[in-house]
Amino acid sequence: MSSYKNTETTLIHGGISIDERTGAVNIPIYQTSTYKQDGLGKMRGYEYSRTGNPTREALEAIIADLEGGVAGFAFGSGMAALTAVLSLLHSGDRVLISSNVYGGTFRLLSKVFDHFNITYTIADTTDLAVYESQISSDVKAVIIESPANPLMTVTDIKAVAEVSHRHGLLVIVDNTFMTPYLQKPLELGADIVVHSATKYLGGHSDVVSGLAVVNSKELAERIAFIQNSTGGVLGPFDSFLLIRGIKTLAVRMDRHVENAEKIAKLLEDHKAVKNVYYPGLKSSQGYEINRRQAKNGGAMISFELHENYDINTFFESLELVSLAESLGGVESLVCHPSSMTHASIPADIRKKVGITDGLIRLSVGIENIEDIIADIEQAIAKSERK
Ligand SMILES: *Cc1c(COP(=O)(O)O)cnc(C)c1O
Repeated sequence: MSSYKNTETTLIHGGISIDERTGAVNIPIYQTSTYKQDGLGKMRGYEYSRTGNPTREALEAIIADLEGGVAGFAFGSGMAALTAVLSLLHSGDRVLISSNVYGGTFRLLSKVFDHFNITYTIADTTDLAVYESQISSDVKAVIIESPANPLMTVTDIKAVAEVSHRHGLLVIVDNTFMTPYLQKPLELGADIVVHSATKYLGGHSDVVSGLAVVNSKELAERIAFIQNSTGGVLGPFDSFLLIRGIKTLAVRMDRHVENAEKIAKLLEDHKAVKNVYYPGLKSSQGYEINRRQAKNGGAMISFELHENYDINTFFESLELVSLAESLGGVESLVCHPSSMTHASIPADIRKKVGITDGLIRLSVGIENIEDIIADIEQAIAKSERK
């Protein structure tokens, strides 16, 4: 493994960045399921691609270097990565989740892991006293997202990790929204980082994938065993696409954030806008904490239009910005959390945690800022009820 002083360099030269055999500056796509053995028990380091594949291994090495962990693991999706991590738990265990957790994570716990008697509680990770009071003796892990969408709720990762460790909890951070370029949860005390690499790490909306990084040899052995046993691995071609995406993460992210900061300020002062949620705004809930633990506020913004604006018309009027699930690609995307990304959370819980039907989530792309703003402005103008 090879980490450099600056993340921009590790993105390009970290992990296993040169093909040992040929010197190729890109790791080849080892599109193979199996490997010839030189005799009984005489393997050349690989035996079967579920267990190990050189392209996937290069990806796993780079993400481990980027997050500053002991080992990385690549999966067929973010949900497969979370499934593998939650497979560390046993029947009777309970997981705490932050209240704005990704809808799919909520569904995984409430509709799948509940079959195995692994239960969950929605916890307030933004209030340490309340949070600590929610840790009962059966609680074995916490899943934190910071910022958690759609309300971009910021959690003090270091503080929550400290309280959690005092009670022996495993601290899992979903770092999808920030990426290791903006935030490194293991340095803040987390035990495991997971990613939907489908988003910023891949960065081009062309691959579905998940990653996990652990901070100890013991966890590395256990996750490696689970990865091989449950089998949700990422294929060689998708691993290649992710490595390729990761190389440009820093330059993409810089532009994503530059654009997002401008749009957030514009929305904050806009007469049509009721609320803006963006951790990079001084007025936002978690601005100070986010500034301590992350490089900046990222590039995801949620906002609500006033009642005299029709959000259906707003979505239908957008021309450049696409209405779509997902985020983190080079193109700007907009979504309606209550009917899309967070629809798997029951309506009463959605309401309780503030995911209103008027909420709009924007994944700010890297197009020219003037074009993005012009599109949003014209869609807002058309959506005003006369
Ligand atoms: C998309 C997403 C996931 C799920 O990842 P997939 O790659 O879609 O399986 C998990 N967490 C967060 C925060 C996400 O945005």
